[in-house]
Amino acid sequence: MKANFSKQLVASPGKKVKLEKWDPEDTLGWDKGHKAKASVEKENEKLDKLQYLLYAEHKRALLIVLQGMDAAGKDGTIRHVMSGVNPQGCVVTPFKKPSIKEAEHDFLWRIHKAVPQNGDIGIFNRSHYEDVLVVRVHKLVPKDVWSRRYDEINNFEAMLHENNVTILKFFLHISKDEQKHRFQQRIDDPDRRWKISEADFAERNFWDDYIGAYEDALTKCSTNHAPWFIIPANKKWFRNLAVSHIITETLESMHMKFPPPTIDVQKLKWR
Ligand code: AMP
Ligand code: MG
Repeated sequence: MKANFSKQLVASPGKKVKLEKWDPEDTLGWDKGHKAKASVEKENEKLDKLQYLLYAEHKRALLIVLQGMDAAGKDGTIRHVMSGVNPQGCVVTPFKKPSIKEAEHDFLWRIHKAVPQNGDIGIFNRSHYEDVLVVRVHKLVPKDVWSRRYDEINNFEAMLHENNVTILKFFLHISKDEQKHRFQQRIDDPDRRWKISEADFAERNFWDDYIGAYEDALTKCSTNHAPWFIIPANKKWFRNLAVSHIITETLESMHMKFPPPTIDVQKLKWR
């Protein structure tokens, strides 16, 4: 099946996002099965080659931002994407509650330091968007502070774009029922129990507030140079398929080239 995941899943810049209109069960007509599996394997092979080219060219970087409710699959997506790339040239940064030192700075300080260097792929597990999500939902700063952050984020991302950082932002969209199901799995499976915290359950009470905060972030901060993609994520196999495709589609559209050799191979003499 020929599909363009980027076009179908992008939150169109300037258009208001209403998440109830995005079905977390959607698979864009794909069925789980060997076709989807073959497609994801093909994308992983492509990604391996494209990353090699990005690394060799050394002129620009790719930044992948992952956001989603608890249990939306951020960790699983990273494991999946990473399975296709060389660890040399890929850096994953998780963002937790800011440390005392981080909290002494503007909210983008710790983020900017983690932006990938030329040639690298950087993956953010949570990001600067927490500063308009958890921070807004729990009123950790006054409204006049978080409300100006959308512009600050857009300016920051525009600056990165102008400095050769390609940005892809993925919102992993699960339903409240699917979250409950995944929490239950974590409770039932002794090997997964470590993943669950009291806070996760408490956060479920704020589900609607989070949806509102996400809708604003997706509406205000999906731009041509740093688009948000809304990934239907109830089905893990489709989530992986969609994210893989969007990454390879983007890297392919960058038309990267190997740098010219620094030596004249004709003139090389073996001793
Ligand atoms: P986890 O991703 O499960 O390891 O949890 C990380 C926690 O850190 C989540 O509850 C986030 O909401 C929280 N967090 C991340 N960034 C911030 C921030 N800027 N301010 C407050 N909490 C944050
Ligand atoms: Mg968590």
